[in-house]
Amino acid sequence: MSDTLFSRIIRREIPADIVFEDEHVLAFRDIQPQAPVHVLFIPKNPIATLNDVAPCDAELLGRLMLAAADFARQQGFADQGYRVVMNCNRDGGQSVYHIHLHLLAGRQMVWPPG
Ligand code: AMP
Repeated sequence: MSDTLFSRIIRREIPADIVFEDEHVLAFRDIQPQAPVHVLFIPKNPIATLNDVAPCDAELLGRLMLAAADFARQQGFADQGYRVVMNCNRDGGQSVYHIHLHLLAGRQMVWPPG
């Protein structure tokens, strides 16, 4: 896949407010937050969309979820609640083609989402 903005953040070519990093996952604050807390969890290995995920990526997807839940616990809003979202392709509202899990928290979420 072609290089994305998020790959450039991983390589520290673009600044980002990084809140978590390990061997597989990077997390940073969204530049246009849609809630008081809005963090993106991305795999360091770039995958364009959820449609491109293979069975061998199952552990990696789990790591994104676990990193988000750990962050929520550490920041103290896990019990209050939060939302995780992954947008896929045009109708899903995806704008950066490097999969990412949005973590939104700090306000009451509504359903259905827009
Ligand atoms: P999506 O629309 O699901 O692909 O989400 C992409 C997200 O990336 C949006 O919420 C953007 O605000 C966010 N974003 C775009 N550029 C940056 C950046 N340089 N740093 C942090 N977040 C960004």
